[in-house]
Amino acid sequence: MTSVIRFLMLAALAAPIWVVAAPPPLAIALHGGAGTLTRSVITPDQEAAYLETLDRAVEFGHQSLTAGAAGVDVVVEVIKILEDSPLFNAGRGAVFTWSGSHELDAAIMRGDTLDAGSVAGVTRVRNPIVAARSVMEESPHVLLSGTGADQFAAERGLAVVDNHYFSTERRWQALQNLRAAEGAPPLDAKFGTVGVVVLDQQGNLVAGTSTGGMTGKRWGRIGDSPLIGSGTYANNNSCAVSATGHGEYFIRLQVASDICARVAYQGLDLQAAAAQVIYENLPALGGTGGVVAVDPRGNVAMVFNTEGMYRASINGRGEKAVAIFGADDAN
Ligand code: ASP
Repeated sequence: MTSVIRFLMLAALAAPIWVVAAPPPLAIALHGGAGTLTRSVITPDQEAAYLETLDRAVEFGHQSLTAGAAGVDVVVEVIKILEDSPLFNAGRGAVFTWSGSHELDAAIMRGDTLDAGSVAGVTRVRNPIVAARSVMEESPHVLLSGTGADQFAAERGLAVVDNHYFSTERRWQALQNLRAAEGAPPLDAKFGTVGVVVLDQQGNLVAGTSTGGMTGKRWGRIGDSPLIGSGTYANNNSCAVSATGHGEYFIRLQVASDICARVAYQGLDLQAAAAQVIYENLPALGGTGGVVAVDPRGNVAMVFNTEGMYRASINGRGEKAVAIFGADDAN
């Protein structure tokens, strides 16, 4: 044995033993709606604008999680970015109702306590996801609707705007197209909801969703997004899910909680559970749309049965995806 090797062996024995604990996995996945502008219709500028906003939102969320922010804060702040962007059907940029106004729905749920809050049919709250959080944390209720929910938000001091604040030319045109087609949905009228799911440093899962609903909705129609278990669900024992798509089908199938139940009771991995519901159960009824989901190990699933879904994620291994079209991603 050379003296060099002997020296190295002695040095190794004398060295302190470092136990480096692996950092807890963090993960985030978000969507800006299924039923996107189709490949044939979207312009390069539009595509670039969507990808830039999705990328900015997912990076902001991931950096916040890395800095130790609580999942609830991250979900709310990332959804606010998407609500404030006119690109998405949530907050500013929301679709029009049949009568030409905006009625917004949002929900949030935390997987550690199963606390949840949502608002439906609000017309004046600038950021409906903030109102949903307020319902969860500052009221004894889970779901508030209509003028009462607007009043609750105003009483809590949340930012209030005129209903016109949410209007954009593109969504107005979509309503005109729908009216002209006498109810048959035009290409650009479909979906566009936003949703975020996270796994934070404390190991907590949180899900949130915000939407203007569907173009031309009437009679106080409420979709799946604010209904806990339908479009939004989180439980630390299984997963967190936010959905987008034709809400009536998501309500009937309880899509978000069904995916988590498959993980919890059947031991399916997240991707398999989401795929069963989105590829099998949903189309069997005629439903279209998709979900983003995370599990306690930092796995991410982004599954949809439409041509595209605006989406972005960074999983527990730090792998990032930002996309609109193509097959669903599992990572
Ligand atoms: N799921 C929403 C609803 O039915 C629409 C969407 O996802 O864009 O209200």
